[in-house]
Amino acid sequence: MEEKPKRTGDVRENPCPICGTTSYIWGVTVGDGPGQRLYTRPDGAGWGDGKEMVTRECDTCGNVQLFTKGQ
Ligand SMILES: [Zn+2]
Repeated sequence: MEEKPKRTGDVRENPCPICGTTSYIWGVTVGDGPGQRLYTRPDGAGWGDGKEMVTRECDTCGNVQLFTKGQ
């Protein structure tokens, strides 16, 4: 009986949807100011709610995925 390859369990490490490779550069969002970050905020929520986002840039094709921090 063959063993199936074990998955890491972290879906954020899944292959790039554009080119299929798995080499990434992880980072943060930045703006014109040094402390600016991008957040996602649910409809109806107020200022200060929401989650900061982190970036996963594909090292092969440059596609960037956004994830909320601390998932
Ligand atoms: Zn890619």
